[in-house]
Amino acid sequence: MTKLLSLRLSIGYLVAAAAAAGCAKQPAEKLDETRSTVADLALRNGAIYTVDGARSWAETIAIDDGRIVYVGNDAGAKNYIGPQTQVVDLEGRMVLPGMQDVHIHPISGGIEANGCDLNAATNVEEYVATIKKYADEHPNETWIKGGGWAMSAFGPGALARKELIDAVVPDRPVILWSRDGHTVWANSKALEAAGITKDTPDPPDGRIDRDPKSGEPIGSLQEGAGGLVAEKAPPDTDATRDAGLRYAVKMLNRYGITGVQDASVNEEDLKAYHRLDDAGELTLRVVGSIWWEREPGLAQIEGIKNLRSEYTGGRIDAGTVKIMQDGVMENYTAVVLEPYKLPGKKDVRGIPMVEPELLKQAVTKLDAEGFQVHFHAIGDGAVRQALDAVEAARAANGNLGHRHHISHIQLIHPDDQPRFRKLGVVANFQPLWAYADDYITELTLPFISKEPASYLYPIASMERSGAVVAFGSDWSVSSANPFEEMETAITRMDAVGKPTTPWMPEERIGLPEALAAFTINAAYTNRDERNTGSLEVGKRANLAVLDRNLFEIAPTEISDTKVLVTLFEGRTVHGDLGAL
Ligand SMILES: [Zn+2]
Repeated sequence: MTKLLSLRLSIGYLVAAAAAAGCAKQPAEKLDETRSTVADLALRNGAIYTVDGARSWAETIAIDDGRIVYVGNDAGAKNYIGPQTQVVDLEGRMVLPGMQDVHIHPISGGIEANGCDLNAATNVEEYVATIKKYADEHPNETWIKGGGWAMSAFGPGALARKELIDAVVPDRPVILWSRDGHTVWANSKALEAAGITKDTPDPPDGRIDRDPKSGEPIGSLQEGAGGLVAEKAPPDTDATRDAGLRYAVKMLNRYGITGVQDASVNEEDLKAYHRLDDAGELTLRVVGSIWWEREPGLAQIEGIKNLRSEYTGGRIDAGTVKIMQDGVMENYTAVVLEPYKLPGKKDVRGIPMVEPELLKQAVTKLDAEGFQVHFHAIGDGAVRQALDAVEAARAANGNLGHRHHISHIQLIHPDDQPRFRKLGVVANFQPLWAYADDYITELTLPFISKEPASYLYPIASMERSGAVVAFGSDWSVSSANPFEEMETAITRMDAVGKPTTPWMPEERIGLPEALAAFTINAAYTNRDERNTGSLEVGKRANLAVLDRNLFEIAPTEISDTKVLVTLFEGRTVHGDLGAL
C-alpha cells in the first residue's frame, strides 16, 4: 500500500487549505497522531535496538510502503495497525538496523565464489585437490580462474609455485588470486600465455617472483605483475558478472546486510549493478568507488565525472573514487615510516602507488568536484600520505562535508590518530584482521620493529580519539559475516577457530561501538544516514531479526548469530516472517 503517497497528499491538502485560510502551517507530527492510515507490516514484542542518537530500545516497529512509520512501545502502535496490517510477534527477538559493509568487492567476490573457489580449503594439499576437482568438473573452460588462497598456507617465507598446479592441470592456463587480492598464483600454461619468461622485467608496480638460482618465474606474481597474466585471460562476461553479483547480494542479505560500499568499480561493474537494480534483484544499496588508475593522473577526473553522472541513480551512488595508496605488509609493498626489517636489504619502505604531491592535487580536485575519496592505506606511511592529501584539500576548499575515508589502516602512527577526527576522515577498519593470525605473527611482526607493532589495528584508540569508526569486510579477502567481524573487534581473538588469548587487549571495543560501526557509522560513510543506519520514523525499513540478543550472550558467541529475517525497503529478502 502506498500510504506515504496519501499522507503526502493530505499534508499537501492541509498546507494548501491552511494557506488559503491564512493560518499557520499544520505541523506534520499532529497528522501522525490522528492518521487513519495503517501500516503494511508491524513487528511487535521485540527487542529492537534502534541505534538512534540515544541508543534506545523499542518493542514495536511499523512499516508502510518501505519506510518506518512508527518505532516505540507496543501500546503506542495501535494507531498504525488495521485489518490489512500483517502483524508479526517477534517473541522478544532482537532486531537491528540493516547493516552496511563499507569496503567489499561483491562482483569479483561473487565471480570467484562461482569459479575455482579456494576459500574453504585450509592447506596446500586441499588447494591442489580443489583445483583438480574444479578442472575435472569444467572440461570446457579454456582458462580456469578463481582465488581464495592464503599466502600463509605455504609456510613462512614460502611462495606459491606453478609446479603444484601443473601437476593437476598441465593442459590449460590457471590463475588464482590470493585471498587478499594482491598476488596471482599461475601455472606454466598461464605464464606461457602471457609470454612471461626469465627475461621479462618486473612491471613498475609489481614483482615477478623468481627462482633465486635459475631466475625462472616460479608462478607467483605480486601486485601489478598479476595483471600481466590476468589481462590475457578471457574477460568476464556480463552474464558472469551478474551471476557473481547475484551470489553476493544473496549472501549479504543472509547476513542482514542491506547496504555496501563496493571498494572498486569500473564501468562494467556499474552496468551490472544497474542491470540487477532494473530487474528488482538489487536488494541492497550500493556506493560504487570508481577505481583511480595509476597512469593518467588528473586527466582521468573528467571521465570519472561522466561515470558518476551516468551511473548514479536507483539504488546506486557512483560518487566515490577509490585511490589505492600502497600494497600490503606481507610482500613489503605497504608504505611504512620505518624500513622493513629484511635481511640483506636496506631501506625498503613499500611502494606508494600515487606520488604524494600528485595525491594532494588529485584529492583537492576530487573534493572540490564533490567526490568522496576512499583510500586504501595499510602502512603508517600511506595513512599519513592520505591524511596529508585530505589536509591539502581542506586548506584549499574548506570543509565540504565529504566523508573521505581510509580503509585497512593496519598501522596508524599515534601522531596521525587525532587527525582523522580533525579532518573528518572516517577510520574504515576490517576488524576481522585484528587478532594474532598467521598474517600478523608470521608475515608482519617479524618484519616491523617494536614501535609500529604497538599500534597495529588501533580500533579502540581511534574510538577514543573521537573519529567516526566504520567497518567493512573486504570480502572476498575475508568473511563478510558481520557477526564474526564484530566478535573479533570485541575480543581481539579468532572468532571461528580455537580460543586464543586476546591480542592487544587494550584495543578491544564494546558491543555498542561494534554495532554502530556496521550501522549508523557505516550509513554515514555511505552518505545515507538520513535514510538508513538506524530504525527511526521516516527511514527506510531495512532491518535484521536475529536468533539471539547480542547483549545477553558471551562475546565469544556473537559469531554464531544467525539472521532469521532480513527486510530491505520493507520487503523480505531473506528468511520468512511467517515462520518466526
Ligand atoms: Zn579491498
